[in-house]
Amino acid sequence: MIFLDAAATTPVRREVLDAMWPYLTGSFGNPSSHHTLGEAAAAALAEARAAVAGVLGCRQGEVVFTAGGTEADNLAVKGIALARQAADPRLDRVVISAVEHPAVQESARYLERFHGFTVDVVPVDGTGRVTPAALAGVLRPETALVSIMYANNEVGTVQPIAALAELARAHGIPFHTDAVQAAGWLPFDTRALGVDAMSISGHKLGAPKGCGLLFVRSRTRLEPVIHGGGQERGRRSGTENVAGAVGLATALRLAGERQEDQRERVAALRDRFIHEVVAGVPDAVLTGHPSERLPSVASFCFPGTSGESVLLELERRGVVCSSGSACAAGSDAPSPVLTALGVPAEVAQTAVRFSFDSSVSQEDLDHAAAAVRAAVAGVRNLGAGHGR
Ligand code: PLP
Repeated sequence: MIFLDAAATTPVRREVLDAMWPYLTGSFGNPSSHHTLGEAAAAALAEARAAVAGVLGCRQGEVVFTAGGTEADNLAVKGIALARQAADPRLDRVVISAVEHPAVQESARYLERFHGFTVDVVPVDGTGRVTPAALAGVLRPETALVSIMYANNEVGTVQPIAALAELARAHGIPFHTDAVQAAGWLPFDTRALGVDAMSISGHKLGAPKGCGLLFVRSRTRLEPVIHGGGQERGRRSGTENVAGAVGLATALRLAGERQEDQRERVAALRDRFIHEVVAGVPDAVLTGHPSERLPSVASFCFPGTSGESVLLELERRGVVCSSGSACAAGSDAPSPVLTALGVPAEVAQTAVRFSFDSSVSQEDLDHAAAAVRAAVAGVRNLGAGHGR
């Protein structure tokens, strides 16, 4: 099987599992306990936090461990907006882009439904990019928060985050970015990016599902969304997932080390793959930005097919990928991301996303490109047969 669905999830890396193992077995303590086992767990958690802070170029106190990317997004969007509104009731608007993951989108809609906020959606261009001019067009004195993702999970388009964050900062508005897909592929130094908050998820990087983090810049007001025993300095209650934090720190360190060379290698393979797919299916439409895209994502529409049928044909040929985001799988509605890019609904239904991790090889991708040609031809033949 050739697994080309790394944007949905990745296997846990051996080094990550090895680093986690002691905290799942012998050193299983609760970091809040005042005995040796507890202290060992607290020390491991502190070490993981220091390692993460090193990779993200931030302070240890600016790292909040969460149970994944969705929770980090919820904490950022709800936590920052509500804390700002509590300090100044006039702050009752949040800005998100038209291509955000549901974790951001639904958090913003929750603020609208239950806390009187208005959600301003900044449009994207046909490649999925938010321009600083478009963002400037929706900022208001009442804007409590801007949340714009670093890289899109369906089409891979990368946003000019540093420029967008700078613009928000110039207006005195905190800026959050969902870096769940970008982490491991794009520079994630929080100071260089100039962001106030950034979400990361472990399972996209070779750590397990259910561990993630939110970077929150010091002095950014943050209302917790999970209340309880006050762990994570009161910002996220619940007994800490020590092994998960250790795994995430290890995965981030490994990702940080490999970034530059792997990025170039995988980007070159992606470009070759795109070329091969278009050579095999001349009317295939590459979605997203032609160059400002994740090295790991190639997404297409194959007009005249159905994305789901192409997926089935591909799987029969040993290639596993998806029709867009895993969250939307099984839904008949056209992808809101593609719709936001201006792709007509009937074409959006034909979307297929191929996403790679750093172990991808040219051989695999050449095989996959040949499978795409055969799969699309197979679906079209079937369609023609039905038409007769
Ligand atoms: N944000 C983006 C851009 C994602 O792609 C995902 C997962 O697909 C998430 C957030 C949610 O992360 P998690 O699966 O860790 O909850």
